[in-house]
Amino acid sequence: MKTFSVITIFPDLIRNYADESILGRGQEAGAIKIESINLRDYAIDKHQTVDDSPYGGGPGMVMRVEPWHRALAAHNALSPKANAAEGTHDERTHTVLMSPRGRTFTQRVAEEWVEKYDRIVFVCGRYEGVDHRVAEFCVDEEVSIGDFVLAGGELPALTMIEAVSRLVPGVLGNQESLDQETFGKGDDDQGAEYPQYTRPEKFGSWEVPAILLSGNHAAIAKWRSESRKK
Ligand code: SAH
Repeated sequence: MKTFSVITIFPDLIRNYADESILGRGQEAGAIKIESINLRDYAIDKHQTVDDSPYGGGPGMVMRVEPWHRALAAHNALSPKANAAEGTHDERTHTVLMSPRGRTFTQRVAEEWVEKYDRIVFVCGRYEGVDHRVAEFCVDEEVSIGDFVLAGGELPALTMIEAVSRLVPGVLGNQESLDQETFGKGDDDQGAEYPQYTRPEKFGSWEVPAILLSGNHAAIAKWRSESRKK
């Protein structure tokens, strides 16, 4: 069982997506668990404030370090770098900050995580971002989903959870499909998946390649391997 914990000020965004389709079924099957934690529950004032204006000036608001520190400690998810008396995580837990400046998430990272960790904890920024002490001391690494800027870390977290979950046995109906897929596995990267077709054989003048209807498995395998996008 893999656990994904998402800390956010929009816990319903995570729940709504995680309860449907593959992630929903994976949870029902007991292969994965996705928990959504409200950062505001760990605010230090009664108004549940989690942001403040930036030191040095500039536009927008920055998320404060204390709510993040409290939330991570309460879930035993603080990085050992935090050097805290309590609340640091064990070696099978990995805590990541969603950040456009982080290392780029790829299929290789998903494979690494599924192997090394039982629990992954996602820190979702909002506003202009998160007080840098969270990146420095509270999380294990900063990870990005690409060179563009979103309004929050929730979509990046869900993207990573979905990519990792597909690799957890019992989440996908057909585990075999993983080997043939785009980005392959490990060093076996065979390029992008071959083109797929289904019924009808003919849609107007658009026809399915005849070789796929030939029943000649060796010829089909050859065609598929040649049709991969490298
Ligand atoms: N001012 C920041 C952007 C803040 S966007 C900058 O210029 O870098 C607000 C939050 O959205 C970030 O803290 C991060 O958690 C999330 N986010 C935005 N784009 C992201 C990306 N490409 N990958 C991962 N997280 C991202």
